[in-house]
Order: sequence, then C-alpha cells, then structure tokens
Amino acid sequence: MDTGIVIVGAGLAGAKAAEALRAEGYRGPVTLVGDEAERPYERPPLSKGYLLGKEEKEKVYVHPADWYGQHEVTLRLGTTATAVDPAGHTVTLEGGERLPFSKLLLATGSAPRTLPVPGGDGEFVRTLRRLGDSEQLRAAFRPGARVVIVGAGWIGLEAAAAARTAGAEVTVLEAAELPLLRVLGPEVARVFADLHRAHGVDLRLGVRVEELRADGVRLGDGSTVPADVLLVGVGIAPNTALAEDAGLTVDNGVRTDQHLATSHPDVFAAGDAANAFHPLFGKPIRVEHWANALNQPAVAAASMLGRTAVYDRVPYFFTDQYDLGMEYTGYAEPGGYDRVVFRGDVAGREFLAFWLSGGKVLAGMNVNVWDVTDPIRELVRSGRAVDPERLADPAVPLDEL
Ligand SMILES: Cc1cc2nc3c(=O)[nH]c(=O)nc-3n(C[C@H](O)[C@H](O)[C@H](O)COP(=O)(O)OP(=O)(O)OC[C@H]3O[C@@H](n4cnc5c(N)ncnc54)[C@H](O)[C@@H]3O)c2cc1C
Repeated sequence: MDTGIVIVGAGLAGAKAAEALRAEGYRGPVTLVGDEAERPYERPPLSKGYLLGKEEKEKVYVHPADWYGQHEVTLRLGTTATAVDPAGHTVTLEGGERLPFSKLLLATGSAPRTLPVPGGDGEFVRTLRRLGDSEQLRAAFRPGARVVIVGAGWIGLEAAAAARTAGAEVTVLEAAELPLLRVLGPEVARVFADLHRAHGVDLRLGVRVEELRADGVRLGDGSTVPADVLLVGVGIAPNTALAEDAGLTVDNGVRTDQHLATSHPDVFAAGDAANAFHPLFGKPIRVEHWANALNQPAVAAASMLGRTAVYDRVPYFFTDQYDLGMEYTGYAEPGGYDRVVFRGDVAGREFLAFWLSGGKVLAGMNVNVWDVTDPIRELVRSGRAVDPERLADPAVPLDEL
C-alpha cells in the first residue's frame, strides 16, 4: 500500500522534488516538512539582489503561495522532523506526531559553521543563510557602519560587496593567503582580491582570529578590529543528524548512489545534504550550489517512483559581486589540476579561465562574458585533451577546440 512520499527540508531541493513528483504523474500524498516559517525560497538573492534591496521578496520563492494547494502538496512549515525510522517507514515530527511514508527524501540542506574561538557562538555573531538573516543585514549595512566579515568565501565576499555598495566600511578577515583559495586556486583567487580592494574593502589575508566580541574581533597579533556588524561566513556543514541517527551511511553528507538512493532503498537524498556518487568523476561529490539543488530532485523523484534516472550533470555555480558576474562549470579540486589557462582580458575582468589536468579541461569560468556555459560544459564532459594555445586564443571558438 502506498502511504505517500515525505520530503524533509522545505528548501529549493524539497520544493523541486514535490514539483517533480507531480510532473512525473505521482498521485499519492506528498508532504513537505520544513523547520522554517517561510514557504520554500531560493537563497542566492539573500546575498545579492535581496540583500541590496533590489529584489522583491515575492521573487525569492520557489513557487507561488497557492501552488502547494493546487498540486495537493501538504506543507508542514515551522515543523522540525526529529527522527526517521527507515525500517518502520515513519518520520517523527517535533511534538511526537508520526508521518508514515513509502519513500522519503532527505533535502535537509546545510547550516553555517561556527568559528571555534571564544565568542564564536555569541549572539552578536551574524550568519547569512535565511531570509531573516538577509533582512537584518540589509538594515545594518548603512553608510559609515563598520562591517567586519570573517571568511572570504562566496558568502563573505558577496556580503562585502553588498555592504560596500550600501556605503559601509568593510573589513574582511581571512586565514588563507587569498580569498576563495581553496575553490579557485591562487591564479584566479587573485582576481577576487583585486576586485574587493578596488572597491575599498580592507581585505586582510593570512590573519588569525582569536576571539569574537560584541565590539569587534581580536586577532592573533593582539590587535582588535572594531565592528558594528560582525558577520561570519566560514563555510557550511550538511544537515545530516537525522540520517546519522537513522543509521544511514553518512560521510561528508548523506551518501547516495547515482540514482540518489541512500543506504536504505526507500530513503533518498538531494541538494546540499547529499554526497552523491557522480558517474562522470567516478566518486561521490557533495555540491553546495543552487543548480545542484535545482536539478537533483527530478532524478530523486523519478528514482522514488521506481524509474531509472541518473544524476550526472556537470556542476555549475555563479556569483555576482559589484559589476562582476561569473559562472563556473566543472569540478577542479585543490591540487587536482596542473595548469590554468586564461582567455581574454584578465585585468579588465572580462575573461575565461580554465583548469586543466593532463591537457583535459576539468572546469571553466566565465567572468563578465556570457553564453559560453554550453561549450564549457561540453569540453568538461568530453574529457578530451585540448591545445592550451588555442584554448587561450579568443579567436578560436570553444566548440572548435
Ligand atoms: C546567502 C546564500 C547565497 C547563495 N548564493 C549562491 C549562488 O550565488 N550560487 C549558487 O550556486 N549557490 C548559492 N548558494 C547555495 C544554494 O543556495 C544552496 O546550494 C541551496 O540553497 C541548497 O538547497 P537545499 O534545498 O539543498 O538546502 P537548503 O536551502 O539549506 O534547504 C534545506 C531546508 O531544510 C530545513 N531542514 C533541515 N533539517 C530539517 C529538519 N530536521 N526538519 C525540518 N526541516 C529541516 C532547513 O532549515 C532548510 O530550510 C547560496 C546560499 C546562501 C545561503
């Protein structure tokens, strides 16, 4: 007997899974459980247009409010799932209610990491994950406000750009020698260091944060950076507690196969929380990006309905900071490439960059150059070796390499 499909986590992945189930023709009960009070919304605008006050709230939602009723998807918002019993096919909600399921999707996403220093969990420390976080920061980013951001990753840098645009004085503190060093490597990370300095950010690299306080940040050299607003963006951790407690295999996220099935055949995972086997790379990868949360759910939904579907899309993400727009397609790990090739005007911030290993393109990035993700994706997917000289030459079309 079909007791329905329960989705835990009402973010982008959860909402897209509900949509995909209905699009696939599933007629049974679908329940979407989310601990936030808001219906599912997209997070990228929270550090960009919405934070800047340029994007309306209505635009951030995944579906219009009446979509859920129209598609007979039961939304249980403001509700935390506290336990999963895969063998008994139930999800327990806070308060003790039990929801039966035939199939379960874990789309629990991820949560900001805290800094393991005194004051790291202080109430004056802000993070940027939820709508309310973005709204509070927008109000705090005022002309002259001293904004200190710990962590020069994507969130930290996008927030820095928004704060500078709002006229705040911005200091970014980063332990590594460059921003985004781990994701981009030194060759391309420099572009982002230059960008933020050109916009007046006090970017301090190689610094050790000793303590977070309500009035600022104490550094390893004994100095203090005063702060009116203190934002910490030092990465995220996948929300895996439910899966772990349920005895599912968890290893840097909920482990799944290429069909997005976990170690229990009736439980699936998608989005930030999933560490999914990727056929193109021959290993599990966990992707903390919008496109992954957008596209994995269709495969999870098909798999839950017993159809054969494989998730093998090339990873993709994007960022907007000041007047720099960038897309990244592929997957290059730290130390996993042997050469970076640039094409175009790097100083003018209008260029492509490619990460290569043995002549093959692992990943490509386009900065203020558009409509090139298809050929970049094709280069990555093909795995063919390319001539670096021709790759660097803007006169050679990418699809002729
Ligand atoms: C500020 C910001 C900017 C971003 N910008 C970009 C960008 O420019 N480009 C890009 O590619 N990606 C970006 N991302 C990343 C992208 O938003 C995420 O990859 C995406 O949100 C992941 O979606 P998800 O549905 O898997 O998880 P989430 O969005 O984290 O949603 C999971 C939901 O499940 C809920 N939940 C967890 N556990 C439980 C439980 N036990 N019971 C009930 N509910 C639970 C969580 O509270 C959350 O609401 C950004 C993220 C943030 C925070």
